[in-house]
Amino acid sequence: MSARFDLPEADGFTRTYWDAAARGRLLLRRCGECGRPHHYPREFCPHCWSEDVDWEPASGRATLYTWSVVHRNDLPPFAERTPYVAAVVDLAEGPRMMTQVVECAPDRLRAGMPLEVTFADGVPVFRPGG
Ligand SMILES: [Zn+2]
Repeated sequence: MSARFDLPEADGFTRTYWDAAARGRLLLRRCGECGRPHHYPREFCPHCWSEDVDWEPASGRATLYTWSVVHRNDLPPFAERTPYVAAVVDLAEGPRMMTQVVECAPDRLRAGMPLEVTFADGVPVFRPGG
């Protein structure tokens, strides 16, 4: 059995996020001090450094900011998935997120196109829609 590089390794802090993702829900962190959301999840607010930060459900809506079509990746199991679309999306709530776009031919991708979250093996990815 070879290592897999596509599965999350949850720790005490991120387990809430990954457990929600496994149930098909995308979570954000929002600061109780300045009110701003952020992603990826951190234990403190990256805007004002407050530790008064909590989880909240995201809408799952996003727009495509940028992307790259990956044709080679030697880390298992990505080799058998190429080509795939590595992307950065702007969540409707504001934070920018590294992810993948699925269910869309690369030549149909457009900057700014609306996307919606879906889940692959408990990992949030995005597809056209929303
Ligand atoms: Zn803050």
